[in-house]
Amino acid sequence: MEGAQSANVTIADPERGAMRFGLRAKFIVTVLLILTVTMAANTWYFVHTSTQRQEQQLRERGHALGRLISLISPQAIIAFDYLQLNDYTREVSAQPDVVYGVIVTPKGIPISTYIRGADAATRHQAQAARPDDLVETLRRLGGEADLLSLDFPIVHNDVELGRFLVGLSRGSLHKEIHRQLVTQLLLLAAVVLFLGAAIYTVFRFNVLQPIQKLITASRVVARGEYAVVDVDSTDEFGMLARAFNAMASEVKHKQERLQRQANFDSLTGLPNRMMAFERIGLEVQRAKRQGERFALMFIDLDNFKDVNDSLGHPAGDRLLVDIGARLKDCMRACDTVARLGGDEFLVVVPTFSDEAEIERIAARIAKAVSEPQLLCGRKVVAKCSIGVAIYPDNGESVEALMANADNAMYQAKAVHSGSAMFFTEEMNTRLRERVLLEQGLDAAVEQGQLTLFFQPVHQTRCGRLKGAEVLLRWRHPERGFISPADFVPVAEASGQIVQIGDWVLEQACRCWSAWRSAGIDPGSLAINISSVQFKRNISERLGRLMAAYGIPPHALELELTERVLLEDHKQVAEEFTKLRALGVRLALDDFGTGYSSLSYLKYFRFDLLKIDRSFVAGLPDSLDDASVVKAILAMAAGLDLEVVAEGVETHTQLQFLSAQACDYAQGYLIAKPMDEMSYGKYLQELNAGGAEGAISRLMGGVAARDAISF
Ligand code: C2E
Ligand code: MG
Ligand code: MG
Repeated sequence: MEGAQSANVTIADPERGAMRFGLRAKFIVTVLLILTVTMAANTWYFVHTSTQRQEQQLRERGHALGRLISLISPQAIIAFDYLQLNDYTREVSAQPDVVYGVIVTPKGIPISTYIRGADAATRHQAQAARPDDLVETLRRLGGEADLLSLDFPIVHNDVELGRFLVGLSRGSLHKEIHRQLVTQLLLLAAVVLFLGAAIYTVFRFNVLQPIQKLITASRVVARGEYAVVDVDSTDEFGMLARAFNAMASEVKHKQERLQRQANFDSLTGLPNRMMAFERIGLEVQRAKRQGERFALMFIDLDNFKDVNDSLGHPAGDRLLVDIGARLKDCMRACDTVARLGGDEFLVVVPTFSDEAEIERIAARIAKAVSEPQLLCGRKVVAKCSIGVAIYPDNGESVEALMANADNAMYQAKAVHSGSAMFFTEEMNTRLRERVLLEQGLDAAVEQGQLTLFFQPVHQTRCGRLKGAEVLLRWRHPERGFISPADFVPVAEASGQIVQIGDWVLEQACRCWSAWRSAGIDPGSLAINISSVQFKRNISERLGRLMAAYGIPPHALELELTERVLLEDHKQVAEEFTKLRALGVRLALDDFGTGYSSLSYLKYFRFDLLKIDRSFVAGLPDSLDDASVVKAILAMAAGLDLEVVAEGVETHTQLQFLSAQACDYAQGYLIAKPMDEMSYGKYLQELNAGGAEGAISRLMGGVAARDAISF
């Protein structure tokens, strides 16, 4: 309402004058025209009837005089009493408006004449005639338009004695008409003006003003602002104003709804990505002006997909809503908490004292996110990784800050999920590196820069070769060998791993069958399978390759990490069944480094466990590592799983493992990964040397018995 009022007063309205002129002028002209014509007709009628009436009165007076003289003059005529007749004519001529009175003989010869010389018309006509020619004078006067000339016979006993001629002037009649006309015109003007003003006032207040208010309010609404018009009448304009207000209010609600939809996340009610960008933009401007710093915190929930997969999307939504509310609660009112989409949130901290404060805020956020929540009867504890970018240290534009905070968050997730990390330039270098690797990988596959290496695995008990782990290598034309630890995660993130993994499977099958054809027993080949690749119907692909290259099932082992088990349990279980049907063995790689939920081991049946080399490295001196390795071995024995120890580099490690009945060992102590040809030779040597050769290889020259008795 206020908006509408202020708009009425303040809005510059270029069309307003034209509009007012248009409608107002048309109305005024029409009203004045109607009034003038009506009043003029009325006046004309009045003057016309008044003239007729006065003419009538003049004529009647003339008739009365005529009749009187006709009545009284016969005696004087008979008696030739001209004096008397002169008295009569003088008397008649003295009457108002009478110009002349003349008594003539039946032949028209004047016997008594009286002409009033004062009358202008008479004087003029009289002067035109000869002074002694009365007949001529009367004839002329009779032709005068302003003169009413009457003629009465003077009769006695049916004998005409003469005639009485009387002339009455219409001069006073004209004067009277003129006076009345002037009065009428003045009256007409006054009435027209008064009525015009009255009608215009009514028009102005009842039509013009409401229309102008509506026009002004429409302009305000058209500008996207809200305006209503005052409604103080119940007529059609009142109804129009009410309809307009209803429309404006609907427009306002729609605008608000659109605004909300465009700027706020419909699930959590928090500002969305667009709004977040806008706020950061404003913060950048403010901080620049005031020479201040502000922080951007990119928050990503860890393994949120699991909640969706295992408990369903409604539960996932509830968790997001709840986390959004908790984030808002744990921040100050001046901070912005937004949901960027999916499981990503963003916090803008406009003021902070130092990095330590940001760390405290990050800890508060992590705590708030990890508050246990009951979803579908299950206690869910969410975790998040946080990336921090600071203006202007880590970027001066919204895009740079967002990208860097995102980058920092990814690093935090990669290094240790559930942690917070500040952006550093080194992260950017890593990111660039990552992009380069991703681009280079395409060429690597096409140009045959990928190759397979083989690292032997031996039994710790007798030194016999079990087989080899197949390890991928990228022979980069400029950078030399690139470790799979560097490029496999990149290939996994980009999806290139599916094609690469396929290539590895085929090459491994080809190599096995080539050695076999050469009469060498290559043992089993353990192939690493990425979780991304595992999901793509690996059993079917493997089945086809095994058939194509004639590979027996016991010759292949697939190494999976715990990541695979985090995916859709049902799908994983189905794939496990299919792989088992093929007869290939399944190994759980890097055991101890991932989520290591023991329930997985019960649920998914593996044949082998591979103890991660990080536990082997501390053996035998590190009590912790020794305890973990012993515990894993005990558990594996209980579950009837064979165990491979990775990264065996020293004799003491090997001795410890063998003493603890670890089935197999793999590591630099025995052999480093080698290319196809070298491994072929390795196999040949082993085949030639028999069990002795294998044991001496395993022990690296140390007597096997000594080692085992450790
Ligand atoms: P992983 O499966 O645990 O492989 C064992 C890694 O330990 C190999 O690293 C191997 O060279 C290294 N290693 C073996 N013995 C020793 C030792 O005594 N000392 C030390 N320091 N290291 C040792 P590599 O070849 O760099 O592979 C790294 C990881 O890349 C592998 O870990 C595996 O997870 C992945 N990877 C390798 N090839 C493939 C592949 O074809 N497909 C997939 N998806 N991943 C692969
Ligand atoms: Mg492996
Ligand atoms: Mg491993």
